[in-house]
Amino acid sequence: MPFSLSDHPDLDVRAQAAVFETASLADVLVWTWEKFGVRAAIGTSFQGSGLVIIDQAVKLGLGFPVFTLDTGLLFPETYELKSRLERHFGIVIEAMHPEQTVEEQAGTYGPELWRSNPDTCCAMRKVLPLQKKLAGLDVWITGVRRNQSDGRATTQMLELYEFDKLRARHLLKLNPMATWSREAIWDHIKREGIPYNALHDRGYHSIGCWPCTKLAGSGEGERAGRWEGFDKTECGIHTFMGANI
Ligand code: SF4
Repeated sequence: MPFSLSDHPDLDVRAQAAVFETASLADVLVWTWEKFGVRAAIGTSFQGSGLVIIDQAVKLGLGFPVFTLDTGLLFPETYELKSRLERHFGIVIEAMHPEQTVEEQAGTYGPELWRSNPDTCCAMRKVLPLQKKLAGLDVWITGVRRNQSDGRATTQMLELYEFDKLRARHLLKLNPMATWSREAIWDHIKREGIPYNALHDRGYHSIGCWPCTKLAGSGEGERAGRWEGFDKTECGIHTFMGANI
């Protein structure tokens, strides 16, 4: 059944987001599990913050489903990490796939769509598969943090989120890492021995599809190196550019 805020008359999203500002990650996740159970799911591209959420949830025995967007264009190191994480945590990470393979997309739109029109490429390979997944959820748990970029600086801990503008569909977006720093995340990952993407040790900050991820300089922002050469900092899954293609 689609999510509707009217089914939760006791929930004031803004007030709850304010409460979460000073709550621990564990308390936020327990609240979410008790209220929504498996209707809340962790979406991860295996960046550091997502790994901390999964680690905390597993340690607390909270059985949130975990999913990722497999664009078919991820680094070999990312696919290898997915398998390592499944073994480490004893979980299955569901992979959401685009309708077209990379080859089929090239037949429809021309080769290397990420070079000619990365917005359409992201819509096909990320936004639409994610919309399909979110349609069956009440809560999307993300690893978005405020200090990742200017565009993410106003991220709230809990938001009512329109994930499908065409159909005016909403769900709750939980951003329990919003207030965390990069340093705190990596302290946690190293301390708890959580597997992470080997590309981080080679200087990559934010890791996405291989055609759109480049090495960033040490003084650059956390999302530097993504979509180099384009005025683009988001793939659309956190902004939803209206995937009406
Ligand atoms: S990040 Fe690049 S390759 Fe991946 S879906 Fe977006 S445009 Fe395509």
